[in-house]
Amino acid sequence: MPSELSTVKIAIVGSGNVGTTFAYALLLSGLAAEIVLIDSNRAKAEGEVMDLNHAVPLTHPTKIRAGDYEDCSGAVVTIITAGAAQKPGETRLDLNKRNTDVFKSIIPAVARYNPGGILLVATNPVDVMSYAAWKISGLPSHQVIGSGTILDTARFRHLLSVHFGVDARSVHAFIIGEHGDSEVPLWSLANIAGMRLQSFSETHMVPYDESIRNDIYLKTRSAAYEIIRRKGATYYAVAVGLLRIVESVLRDQKTVYSVSGLVENYYSVRDTYLSLPSVIGRNGIEFVLQLQLDDRESAALGVSGEILRTATGQLGLD
Ligand code: NAD
Repeated sequence: MPSELSTVKIAIVGSGNVGTTFAYALLLSGLAAEIVLIDSNRAKAEGEVMDLNHAVPLTHPTKIRAGDYEDCSGAVVTIITAGAAQKPGETRLDLNKRNTDVFKSIIPAVARYNPGGILLVATNPVDVMSYAAWKISGLPSHQVIGSGTILDTARFRHLLSVHFGVDARSVHAFIIGEHGDSEVPLWSLANIAGMRLQSFSETHMVPYDESIRNDIYLKTRSAAYEIIRRKGATYYAVAVGLLRIVESVLRDQKTVYSVSGLVENYYSVRDTYLSLPSVIGRNGIEFVLQLQLDDRESAALGVSGEILRTATGQLGLD
């Protein structure tokens, strides 16, 4: 482990599917010296810790333990994955009230013991819950990040990569806005190694039209519903998304990810949390990219912003 990583502590609140899959990915990455798992179901956290600890001799020297909120003290990042998940047929916004109550019991303690750390929220509806975490914690907004559409962007890139027959890592495309039903695909900026999709399609004879765009967008947007219908929950891809964000913080990488942050004034969006391509570094969200959106995209982003502004307004936290 490089010396600057030898003291890195990461706390995870919520030892369910997402929290423990992230803990596992973090252990395999070797990025953390210490991982603390916190859950209202202490036995669950302890059982997960035992299982993870048995992987330590085969991976990286890492202290992993079950803890309480005071153990968030000194954590570079605290990941919040506690709360209810979507049931089949439920939208993410349906979880609003239930998870705000959960956050009122968690966030004040995390912020009290760790006022200097980054809060990274995955609990759904993630934009609303990130806004709630920001309001409840009183922390500066750059320190309170939601995983947002990092997952939807990965799903989008995967589907584009399958369609165009190139490695997903060479597909540069973003989903912005709500992590949910109003999310916005940025077709006008999508490219493969700098080549616009339209020109890639013409040069390399790959079909690309409105119905293909629609199909890819709908598959991206409905992926969580499809997975939940089949296996009850989603966790691998979001866990890796969380890991990438944490890595960019720890190494001050300034990597651009579509994460949920406070948007005060961006096109027609005002005063809510939603995802935009953001530079992630040691301070959390360092800055947001000022994108040139086309009219359709900026209108769709405005709709997403309205939906989220209404949802955050209903929290009674303003
Ligand atoms: P889960 O039910 O497996 O785990 C949730 C954990 O939270 C449980 O262990 C539970 O005991 C704990 N918990 C509940 N209330 C608590 C409290 N007050 N204090 C401490 N711990 C508490 O759920 P999951 O599948 O891990 O999903 C967790 C959340 O992540 C859900 O809201 C889900 O919708 C969301 N999620 C987000 C994304 C994303 O892209 N942002 C992707 C998948 C899931």
